[in-house]
Amino acid sequence: MRDVFQTRILAVALALATLGVCILAGLNLSQELNTEFPTDGVTWVEAQGGLRAQRVPADSPGGKDGVRTGDILQAVDELPTPRLAALEREIGVTPEELLAANPAKMAAALKPGGMVPELRALRLKEIAERIQKEFGGDLLEGLKGQPISKIRTALKKFSNIADPGADRILLFGGISPVAAVPSNCPYVLVRIRLGLERENYGVTYKEAQSLIEAEVPAKLDARARAYLLLKVHGQRVCKTKNPKCGECPVAGECAYFGGKTRGRAGLK
Ligand code: SF4
Repeated sequence: MRDVFQTRILAVALALATLGVCILAGLNLSQELNTEFPTDGVTWVEAQGGLRAQRVPADSPGGKDGVRTGDILQAVDELPTPRLAALEREIGVTPEELLAANPAKMAAALKPGGMVPELRALRLKEIAERIQKEFGGDLLEGLKGQPISKIRTALKKFSNIADPGADRILLFGGISPVAAVPSNCPYVLVRIRLGLERENYGVTYKEAQSLIEAEVPAKLDARARAYLLLKVHGQRVCKTKNPKCGECPVAGECAYFGGKTRGRAGLK
């Protein structure tokens, strides 16, 4: 019975996420970016094994599709929900908590998130130590009021953070509405607006950034929404190779689909 409920929940979540992509197709992109996120109307809270439906209004999309109070959401898009919060739930995410944590326990909490959890645990401890020493234990507070260029430089001193990562932190940390671009699919907006992306990653990233700057209001929510929509579209439809143009909801407005390859052979 529980499996049936979980399957229903996953189906609802997938359907709603797909709806987000369809909205992108139906409306002008810049107008669409200012509207509300689709929601299942359910209040989800952390629980053993995933997220538990705490409140399910009967007339909400989730309620109408069979989600019931107490159901457990185990995964969305094959991404297990427990991994989103395991570290926070079992260890905590403040610098003090990370520094005090047992490395093996920390690695175990990070395991669902990917490979080499021991190394990632070590990195997290290094980051926590720097935040303690250089920012008085509060990174956001420590960066507050500084020029963006200085904040960017400070962020890039952390291991594995380059400009795309710094952009994401600036935007999703609520520091500045910079035009962050999904680093694994910066080509999506370029294909739609300009045509086939350049071979150089940095050029494509900059082109996408310029398009967002020109078309999306410099507000945190609008820029975050643009980022997330482009990311979802790149993951599901506009893949690096073999984009699914035949089923793409924005094909009619896409420069690449319209034949603009900017002097290069098209994608295979
Ligand atoms: S039509 Fe093709 S290239 Fe254009 S956005 Fe859609 S999937 Fe990407």
